[in-house]
Amino acid sequence: MSNRVSLRDNHRLRVYRAEQRVRDLFDAADHTGERTIEVFDARITMPVEKRMADLEQAAAYLDGVLALRAVRRRLSRAGIAVTIRARKGHTAAHYEPDTHTIAIPMQRPSEVRELLLLHELAHHLQPPVSVAHGPQFCRVYCDLVRRVLGPEPAWLLRACLIDSGASYH
Ligand SMILES: [Zn+2]
Repeated sequence: MSNRVSLRDNHRLRVYRAEQRVRDLFDAADHTGERTIEVFDARITMPVEKRMADLEQAAAYLDGVLALRAVRRRLSRAGIAVTIRARKGHTAAHYEPDTHTIAIPMQRPSEVRELLLLHELAHHLQPPVSVAHGPQFCRVYCDLVRRVLGPEPAWLLRACLIDSGASYH
């Protein structure tokens, strides 16, 4: 989620739906010996998606992604440090643009997984004036997933975003 309200965020639910599908397929891959799944008439191998043990680990993970040369080269806002904080209650994670802060609920650290952190980091890296879950967000999100998790999950995320009707270009 994001606090950006100046532009209509009318694809938010589509992005969430696509992300849920990718999450489910990551989980399905956990239960196959070779980590291969069949989806959209393709057979792909999924990497292991890391779960964060605590806030410090999540912070180190975000710093590591921002330090990647490929990320720095492609995304100009990667030079801006991001802060992470625990969010009270059972609400969803969100990004606070004014302070460059990702707020995540830590009641169940195992639910703080790479896709969630990369989603929030994509809000940090998308152009400041762009629709929260619009096409520029989707492009940055898929780019991050490709750089960090690899081409197969990135292909899958892109396919799910398009299939769910989120705008992507
Ligand atoms: Zn979001």
